[in-house]
Amino acid sequence: MKTIGVLGCGLMGAGIAQVSAASGFRTIVLEVNDAVLAKGLARIDKVLSGAVEKGKLSADDKARTLANLTGTTRYADLKDCDLVIEAIVEQVDAKRAAYQQVEAVVGPQCLIATNTSSLCVTELAAATTRPDRFGGLHFFNPVPMMKLVEVIRALTTTPETHEALMQFARALGKDAVSVPDRGGFIVNRLLIPYLLDAIRCHEGGLGTVEDIDTAMKLGCGHPMGPFTLVDFIGLDTTYFIANILFDEFKEARFAPPAVLKRMVLAGHLGKKSGRGFYTY
Ligand code: NAD
Repeated sequence: MKTIGVLGCGLMGAGIAQVSAASGFRTIVLEVNDAVLAKGLARIDKVLSGAVEKGKLSADDKARTLANLTGTTRYADLKDCDLVIEAIVEQVDAKRAAYQQVEAVVGPQCLIATNTSSLCVTELAAATTRPDRFGGLHFFNPVPMMKLVEVIRALTTTPETHEALMQFARALGKDAVSVPDRGGFIVNRLLIPYLLDAIRCHEGGLGTVEDIDTAMKLGCGHPMGPFTLVDFIGLDTTYFIANILFDEFKEARFAPPAVLKRMVLAGHLGKKSGRGFYTY
């Protein structure tokens, strides 16, 4: 693979485009309009400049990364891509429409991968004319720092496509794990019930938010406790993923507690809204 397309230059797309360009791939990132694109590219520039200031990256490496990176708002510019990674809004219809536009310009050998956290990868693959050359590349936020990529096998993904996506993730310097297309993949399947259980324990009087966080940090060596983590992920995102997991598995451990729903409806979304289990 030489040329990589990235759809979306938001939180995840910007990070994916940055690591792809930094790893030597010619990278083209596509956004909906010039203003959003400029904002996304400025975000990448800021992260790279910050790394140079801290002495973690040389000015030459920053320049090399930026030289590999171009932004566009035209799908036609993706025509030479060997792989297109989609990191746009978490809506099936929007993703389906984007794949159609990609497939109108790329060659038949081009792979498409989705960074979806919660949607069914097999359903997204089926929305394309190349369900065999489609898979999931699930990156973690912030992409340049987080080492893991879950590489998802849709029901239709061929072993060759899967292996190519595994190799691509490794070429970015990431640790790749191979996961079948099941709700939540590995990380969210195990993490979300843990977070929901922490909320239930707090409600049941087991401990304060602070004490539960301290206990899990110091007792388990976790970098942050469950309530700090829920606030960081976003209560709305946690609630959304929990509902999808509950819908898929129909197990009580995935059912979001009533208080989580109420907090989301009240706009207490965590760090991003200034208030969640903590106040920021
Ligand atoms: P975001 O809102 O920060 O960015 C999405 C970007 O996509 C926006 O800039 C938007 O303008 C752009 N966009 C929307 N429609 C588009 C289109 N048709 N073509 C091109 N660009 C389009 O969202 P995000 O947090 O970066 O999430 C993107 C994807 O990554 C979602 O599928 C999400 O589930 C997944 N994901 C998110 C996280 C996370 O921690 N936020 C982690 C892993 C995966």
